[in-house]
Amino acid sequence: MDFSKNELTSNEELSNELLRGLNTQFGLAGPDDVLLWGYDTFGTDMVLGTGFGPSGMFLIYRLWELGIEIPIFFLDTHLLFDETYGLKDKVEERFDIRITRVSTRLSLDEQAEEYDEKLWNKDPNKCCYLRKVLPLQNYLSDKKAWITGVRRSQSETRKNTQYVEWDPDNEVVKLNPLASYTTEEVWNYIRSKKLPYNPLHDEGYPSIGCIPCTEAVEQTASDERAGRWNGSEKTECGIHLSTQK
Ligand code: SF4
Repeated sequence: MDFSKNELTSNEELSNELLRGLNTQFGLAGPDDVLLWGYDTFGTDMVLGTGFGPSGMFLIYRLWELGIEIPIFFLDTHLLFDETYGLKDKVEERFDIRITRVSTRLSLDEQAEEYDEKLWNKDPNKCCYLRKVLPLQNYLSDKKAWITGVRRSQSETRKNTQYVEWDPDNEVVKLNPLASYTTEEVWNYIRSKKLPYNPLHDEGYPSIGCIPCTEAVEQTASDERAGRWNGSEKTECGIHLSTQK
């Protein structure tokens, strides 16, 4: 299917119709079809973003098996767990790939001096904006599409996730090939393929982000993103907000 960024930005009615058609088509297909369509359409102007969660492991493996060589990146806030950095190294070795580190130039010392020593406590939205949202915007500014591991079952705010969306904040097409997958399906796949994953998942962390904003939770917690920004109403860092309706 021919498809360009202009078609999504020039005429709202046309854009909605186009996205509806694609999402109907992908609702009957599977993640590979979304990835292959994305590669056919955008080539290496399409990138995969991962925080090294289970969905990311699934997608990195699918890209590798399909022979789709596109840039893969992660947002390095300088506040990630050692286990997360360790998993990055493991994935690079296993799949013989290099994962791009996307980061702010603002060091943690500079942030402390300019804002607050623990900005993540005082104003987590500002902290996420400086350390995640802005670096992502800069990185995607010359890209056409980004693939994410966002799934509907992850949280209430993600329940309307589509396979293909227009991301107005970053002005790129956003592909969520695993939109309809449940956690169980993703983990079954990871186990069946013996894929690497973050060892913190076995220690009570369902979702893993920055150290100051991630906690282990009771194993009975039903929210897949439980343990993130505990004690506050914040549930998202902000990089996916513009496509949540
Ligand atoms: S998750 Fe926490 S520490 Fe990480 S960027 Fe957001 S507020 Fe800052």
